[in-house]
Amino acid sequence: MSKDNLLNFTCSDLEKFFLDMGEKKYRAPQVIKWIHQIGVTDFALMTNLSLTLRDYLSQHSEVKAPELIKELIAEDGTCKWLMQLEDGHSIETVYIPEGSRGTLCISSQVGCPLGCSFCATGMMGFTRDLTVAEIIGQLWLAVRKLSPDNTTRTHVITNVVFMGMGEPLLNYTNVLKSTELMLDDNAYGLSKYKVTVSTCGLVPEMLLLRDQSEVALAVSLHAPNDELRSSLMPINKKYPLKELIAACNNYFKDGKRQVTIEYIMLSGVNDKIEHAKQLVKLLSHGRYKVNLIPGNIVTHTDLEPSSQDNIDLFRQVLLDAGINTITRKSRGGDIAAACGQLAGEGC
Ligand code: SAH
Ligand code: SF4
Repeated sequence: MSKDNLLNFTCSDLEKFFLDMGEKKYRAPQVIKWIHQIGVTDFALMTNLSLTLRDYLSQHSEVKAPELIKELIAEDGTCKWLMQLEDGHSIETVYIPEGSRGTLCISSQVGCPLGCSFCATGMMGFTRDLTVAEIIGQLWLAVRKLSPDNTTRTHVITNVVFMGMGEPLLNYTNVLKSTELMLDDNAYGLSKYKVTVSTCGLVPEMLLLRDQSEVALAVSLHAPNDELRSSLMPINKKYPLKELIAACNNYFKDGKRQVTIEYIMLSGVNDKIEHAKQLVKLLSHGRYKVNLIPGNIVTHTDLEPSSQDNIDLFRQVLLDAGINTITRKSRGGDIAAACGQLAGEGC
């Protein structure tokens, strides 16, 4: 009989699990703490559980994260980890330290079916969705790796972004459950402002997420008009800009939070002044923060990153229109750990 991997369970899933076996509900937060906060995988060590329960769990359950098979550390401190899944597929997770902040960039699928022309993950095609254990397991493993003695846990990873491999909203339920664990005080206790789901713009799932979760949202826009966007991102034919921007305007019920717009700067493609002006118009009815991303080179495409001068000029148009715009530093370039370079092909 196969064992239940308890990394797949949120606290409410575990409550049900314990109630079904005639145990008390409060066992759930106890076990969540052991697994996620303390990092214990051996049920025998969970000393506040009865011996009978520990014995039962040892026989019927397990705590199994993906296996770390390779680590690369870039000059700027960025770490890229290659993790192997039980069926032999691999995924990549990236850790980006920055002063008192530490951001973990996690994957939600093996590959991605959406085929954006500038993206290495898109180019490898789609294999499958990740389970909750495989998604939260990336955080579980990163915490253990960065703080093996469990002493600095709360400081090392302050932010989580779903900007690794895959489209998180295509794996909606598992991503939602994983974010629940990230926010759970008995697990990782991360702030809802610091867990960000990034999407290429799946409108129905965005609306669902708005109703079911309070995590932050980033939208990969990359073009300010339908013609250009559809040529770079096929999903735009299904959910064109009018629908996408309508879903983003007023996304957050609390009047202060902003949707982050991700915009890769590709030379001669989407980086002209007229594009910046179109973008200003497009974003004029909501609360937005724009991240300009110096495009990362992905082999087998003829797309080139924009020059710093063009990025600065583009940014100034947005700033002049009162849109909070930053140019994101590309990190971990020397180990192909930057956005859009994750293809799970090894380090
Ligand atoms: N599928 C989701 C999340 C994963 S992609 C999404 O598209 O948002 C994570 C981020 O990397 C997205 O903003 C994506 O557009 C960006 N990205 C993809 N290819 C890139 C490249 N070559 N250079 C820079 N950023 C890239
Ligand atoms: Fe998929 Fe996002 Fe890459 Fe597009 S940018 S192919 S949606 S991972």
